[in-house]
Amino acid sequence: MPKKRRSGGRKKAGSVGREPPVPCSQCGRLVPADKAIRVTKRYTPVEAKLARELEKGGAYVAARPMVKYYCVSCAVHAGIVKVRSREERKIRVPLQLASKKLKQKVIFKKMLTQTV
Ligand SMILES: [Zn+2]
Repeated sequence: MPKKRRSGGRKKAGSVGREPPVPCSQCGRLVPADKAIRVTKRYTPVEAKLARELEKGGAYVAARPMVKYYCVSCAVHAGIVKVRSREERKIRVPLQLASKKLKQKVIFKKMLTQTV
């Protein structure tokens, strides 16, 4: 049977077995750790406006990385990942770079196909 994605939407490369489940931070659904969409953000208890002013003044505002896991449905709903066409699905880039690099690669591929 043909596969929609080479990896089946997961990050474990070719290996079989069980991955520990992680709860989705939006809906609480248990998702395999390698399938869950992981998003890291900077978190400061200080308000954004105030933090900017403090940093202008030369103060150091501590920020902790905040890790969130999303199930595929929630990630799509929140716009973190998007539904991609058959061709675009073949482009494999890390999530953080996806938005920038995906566009570049798609443009590059289109250019290649047009010239040949
Ligand atoms: Zn969810």
